[in-house]
Amino acid sequence: MIKTFLITGGAGFIGSAVVRELLNNSNHKVVIVDKLTYAGNLESLRSVANHPHYTFVRADICDAAVMQKTFNRYQPNVVMHLAAESHVDRSIDVPAEFIQTNIVGTYTLLEAARSYWSVLSTESRARFRFHHISTDEVYGDLDGTDGFFAETSSYAPSSPYSASKAGSDHLVRAWQRTFGLPTLVTHCSNNYGPYHFPEKLIPLMILNALAGKPLPVYGDGKQVRDWLYVEDHARALVLVAQQGKAGETYHIGGHNEKQNIEVVTTLCELLDEFKPAEASYKQLITHVQDRPGHDVRYAINAGKIYKELGWHPVETFESGLRKTVLWYLENSPWWQRVQDGSYQRQGVNA
Ligand code: NAD
Repeated sequence: MIKTFLITGGAGFIGSAVVRELLNNSNHKVVIVDKLTYAGNLESLRSVANHPHYTFVRADICDAAVMQKTFNRYQPNVVMHLAAESHVDRSIDVPAEFIQTNIVGTYTLLEAARSYWSVLSTESRARFRFHHISTDEVYGDLDGTDGFFAETSSYAPSSPYSASKAGSDHLVRAWQRTFGLPTLVTHCSNNYGPYHFPEKLIPLMILNALAGKPLPVYGDGKQVRDWLYVEDHARALVLVAQQGKAGETYHIGGHNEKQNIEVVTTLCELLDEFKPAEASYKQLITHVQDRPGHDVRYAINAGKIYKELGWHPVETFESGLRKTVLWYLENSPWWQRVQDGSYQRQGVNA
């Protein structure tokens, strides 16, 4: 059966990977709802924008009337909700936008979904899914070097970003429990890969290194993150949206725990190999004052999705990082237009 997927945040980093995954590897229809904030980039969707099953709606998920109209017009079978303000550093500078989009926006979308879903046939109601994409950061950080977050771990968010995501997770679960809306929640670890906005650690380091600029590492760089290649994540999300059990939570992770300093050092080594300069890029590494409230370690146990849905990541950290560095080297027009701001002025994003 051909389904219609409504993807919020589909012009963002992970959302665009989900859209490419669905349009390249299934017969399903995709309706993207995206406000095109600074993080939304239609150029990340260029390769699929002429697909007959592609529809783009520029809209704010906080706009209740437009969300209702969008549900009624496109009649989605599945919602994958990725629209969010997603950058921790920005959440420390401007928390209000995070509360608005991540909490109020999720509430608005849930209400539009509920109103649309409540008048569907019994069979369509049972098959409908509202899949909320969340983060492992809602759990706070792990002490020491052992232990993993489980689907049952308690919430202890540290930053305005993770607190706003925690709030949205609670709303989604309450809409399932109170109203019976069939929801799914996934928590993933740090993503990396092609089309990643240059404010995030991996692309920032690649592009700074190429420009000969310092590579700023917070504090001692010993913070541990668990890395997941974005295309592996997109496949996992599509699998959960189609085969996940309503009301369940799934963790998605690649079992790739690395200290930030190791990540930056490996990037320098890859660049030394692909684009040798006079001296190693490692000399550009500069330690800067740590971020307030910086979580020390995140690591996720993704055993449930491995066991119940048969998903496994294809990329190791080494192979994924290699692909990522090569992608940035081969796709300079994409990131140059992000860096000079022209991606927002080109009409494509108007
Ligand atoms: P992103 O910042 O790259 O993209 C977010 C998208 O949402 C953008 O296209 C933006 O235009 C859109 N958007 C923002 N506010 C909107 C609004 N009010 N209405 C409609 N659209 C709006 O984010 P990402 O990295 O692709 O993350 C996607 C989701 O995955 C987020 O919910 C994030 O919390 C979660 N997540 C991300 C990571 C990661 O490593 N990137 C890890 C865990 C969870």
